[in-house]
Amino acid sequence: MPEIKAIETRYSGCRFHSRLEARWAVFFDSLGLVWDYEPEGYYCGEKYEAPSFDNSMLFLECVNCGEIKIEFSEGNYFVCDNCNSRASNETPRLLRAVQKARSARFEHGESG
Ligand SMILES: [Zn+2]
Repeated sequence: MPEIKAIETRYSGCRFHSRLEARWAVFFDSLGLVWDYEPEGYYCGEKYEAPSFDNSMLFLECVNCGEIKIEFSEGNYFVCDNCNSRASNETPRLLRAVQKARSARFEHGESG
């Protein structure tokens, strides 16, 4: 099996280990979430701290108040922590952010 090489990628003044990590930054930007990037590969926002490659993360938006939340585990995660309304992972805002992250084009060369 060929080794998959991470391509160092520059975005928003940060140098990411891979394009995937840079795409997460695009995703967060699109949602207006505060993020930061550290060499350990963690995003630390005002409210969010998540391993960049954790596929178990589920992003949800409250259909009532627009609160964005990240869930890591099973449970009652389709309910907003803020107002108890329904939270969905398929709101137009979240889907737009996913689309934006997927279609992001980064600079060529060393910057990926
Ligand atoms: Zn809410």
